[in-house]
Amino acid sequence: MGQSEHSSAVQILKHALETAWSPFAWAASAPSSALRRYRASLADNGQAAACARFDNRKWTLDLLKHLEWRRFEELCAAYYEALGFRTRLLHERADGAVEIVLCAEPDRASVIVHAKAWDAYRIGIGPLRELRDAMAIASVRKGVLVTSGRFTREAVNFAAQEHIQLIDGAGLLEKLSELNPEKSLALLQFTMQGDFLTPTCPACSAKMISRRSIQGGRPYWGCVNYPRCKHTFSSTA
Ligand SMILES: [Zn+2]
Repeated sequence: MGQSEHSSAVQILKHALETAWSPFAWAASAPSSALRRYRASLADNGQAAACARFDNRKWTLDLLKHLEWRRFEELCAAYYEALGFRTRLLHERADGAVEIVLCAEPDRASVIVHAKAWDAYRIGIGPLRELRDAMAIASVRKGVLVTSGRFTREAVNFAAQEHIQLIDGAGLLEKLSELNPEKSLALLQFTMQGDFLTPTCPACSAKMISRRSIQGGRPYWGCVNYPRCKHTFSSTA
């Protein structure tokens, strides 16, 4: 199910860009029912109104900050495809996040990109160490860490020593706005398709469900496959 949801979003972008641009070599085919399921998931969990409050004509930091982590990764991969890179997504990271491998030439990895969705805390050295290790394993000299949030000063210093480019939320907003207007708009439509707010379970790749704790009524996101899967995310809703 996860793969189909992922692919459905890809399919949407392919339609949007059919003639001008053909991105997403990593997930070219999608079952025809996937798009319907995507829309159904939007209606089911009541997130439609929340999604509708975002401007769908121009990129904003507000949108980037609210994108759920999986959609943020997809946006990052799609952005690099828009720049002309071939991308490969590897599902090998411990936390369920993907590794985005950029190939300037076919089948030759040249850059590794890790994406981190918005967090109230600034990104420190930990995720950069993970990226550096991934670069070493792949024998790639260049890495990029993209976030919709911000970095600590220590992270900035570490990145400078390790050939890692840091792109924070403001930087990403600038880059998206600088794309050719048609590509930029198509990317925005892709990013805002369906439910782009509800987090995806890292283990099951399914959209999570809003729940409340029994004691205290604290809201949180839980997996649809509970109790088999016990993944949760905190929620401010
Ligand atoms: Zn799960």
